[in-house]
Amino acid sequence: MQDLVIYNTLHRQKELFQPIAAPNVGMYVCGPTVYGDPHLGHARPAITFDILFRYLKHIGYKVRYVRNITDVGHLEHDADEGDDKIEKKARLEQLEPMEIAQYYTNRYHDAMRSLNVLPPSIEPHATGHIIEQEELVRQILDNGYAYESNGSIYFDVEKYNKDHRYGVLSGRNLSDMVNNSRELAGVNEKRNQADFALWKRAMPEHIMRWPSPWSDGFPGWHCECTAMGRKYLGSHFDIHGGGMDLVFPHHECEIAQAVASQGDEMVKYWMHNNMITINGQKMGKSLGNFITLEQFFTGSHQTLTQAYSPMTIRFFILSAHYRGTVDFSNEALQAAEKGYERLMNSLEDLAHIQTAAASDENTKKLAGNLRQKCYEAMNDDLMTPAVISALFEACHSVNLLIDHKAQISTDDLKELTETMNLFAFDILGLRNERSANNDAREEAYGKVVEMVLDLRAKAKAEKNWAVSDQIRDSLAAAGFQVKDTKDGVTWKLDR
Ligand code: ZN
Repeated sequence: MQDLVIYNTLHRQKELFQPIAAPNVGMYVCGPTVYGDPHLGHARPAITFDILFRYLKHIGYKVRYVRNITDVGHLEHDADEGDDKIEKKARLEQLEPMEIAQYYTNRYHDAMRSLNVLPPSIEPHATGHIIEQEELVRQILDNGYAYESNGSIYFDVEKYNKDHRYGVLSGRNLSDMVNNSRELAGVNEKRNQADFALWKRAMPEHIMRWPSPWSDGFPGWHCECTAMGRKYLGSHFDIHGGGMDLVFPHHECEIAQAVASQGDEMVKYWMHNNMITINGQKMGKSLGNFITLEQFFTGSHQTLTQAYSPMTIRFFILSAHYRGTVDFSNEALQAAEKGYERLMNSLEDLAHIQTAAASDENTKKLAGNLRQKCYEAMNDDLMTPAVISALFEACHSVNLLIDHKAQISTDDLKELTETMNLFAFDILGLRNERSANNDAREEAYGKVVEMVLDLRAKAKAEKNWAVSDQIRDSLAAAGFQVKDTKDGVTWKLDR
C-alpha cells in the first residue's frame, strides 16, 4: 500500500491517510444543488474527488463513495432565510419541483460523463431521506442543543459552544460572529443570529413540505449530509470533501450536528478544493462571467474565443494543485489544450517506437524512475501538476525515440508505456478524445454505407442492374470493398 499523505482542513496540516477500517474507505462529498445548468464551479470538486476516488482504488482500497444530490432546502441567501431555489424556479416555470430537480440532475450527469468523472457508489437524494433528517433533529433536541420556535427548530449555537467549540473547522470565533450581527438579533425566530435552522415550518405557498412532530415543513440544508453520511458510511467515516466555500457555514454546521447528536465527530479527514476564478474575477451571474460547462464545450459564451473540449477542461483543472486557485482565461485554456494534445500525441507514438538491444543511459533512467516519481507526486496530497510534469518529461523522451535520437530496450519500452498509460488514463482519468471522435466518425460512416447498400439491394430486387452496379462501383471508388456472398452483402473500408 502506498503511503498517501493528505491535507486535513480540520487540523490544518498534512496527515498520513490511515482508514478507520482498512481496506474499506468511506468517502462523502457534497454534490450539486440541482436547480441550474452545471458550470465550472461543479467541475472542480467533481474532478478533485474523482482523482482521490480513482487513486484510493488503484492503491488497493475498497472505497464507498457517496455524493449527494441536494433537491430541497438549499435557500437563496443563507441556510435560514429566503426562497428555496428549486421551488422558485418551479413556480416561475410552472413545473413540479421534482421536474426541475430531475432535469438538472440529468444535465449534471451528462456533464460529469463528458468530463470522465466516475459515478459515485451511492448518490442519495435529500428528498429521499426526510425520515433520517427528522431523526437527526430529534436526537439534537433530546440532547438539549436545539429549540423550537414557531414550528421551526433551530440549533442552539451558544449552548453548544459552552460544551464544545463551534468554529473548529473554519477557525471562526462565536463571539465575533455574534458581535458582528448584533443589530440583526431578535428580528426573527432565532435566539441568536448564529443559530441555524434544522427544520423550517413551511409557509402556505411552499410546495415541498413534509409532516413532522413540529410542523409541516422541510429540513435545513446542513441536515442532509450529516444524516445521509451516517446512514451510508456509519457514525465514524474517513473522508468528507467539498469546495472551500462549504467550510463555513455548511461543514462547520455538519460537525456541530454530528457532535450534538452522537457525542463525537463523525469525520476523520476533511478535504477541500480551492475555488476558480475567470480572468481574475470570482464567477458570478451579476458579473456576466457565469459560464456553464456546455458553453465551454461549444464556445458559446462571449468571454470565450473558442470551444474547449471536456478533456481540455479536465487537464487544465489537474494542472493546478487542488488546494491552489485556478484562473480560467482563454490563454491558460489554450496552453492546457496544447499540453493535453502533446501528451496524447506521445501516448499514440509509443506504439510506433522501434526497440533496440539496450536503452541508452538517459532513456533507461527515465523509464526506470517514472513510475516512482508519479507515485511520490500522488502520495504528496494528490500533487497532480507534478504527475503531469513527470509525464511531459516522458513525452520529451518519446519524441527523441521517434526521431531515432535515443534508444530503448523492449523491457524499458514496456515499462514506459504501462506507466504513461496508467497515470494519464487510469489515475488522472484523461481520455483520448481524438480516438473517441474517430470511433464516432467511423460509426457514422458505417451507417451511411449500410443505408447505401440497402438502396442497392432494393435496386437488385427490382432487377435494376445498372443502378446496383453503379452503387458498387461508386463505393469501390471511395475505397469501400463490397462483396456479395451467399449470406448477404459484406463490406469493409479498404485502407
Ligand atoms: Zn453537504
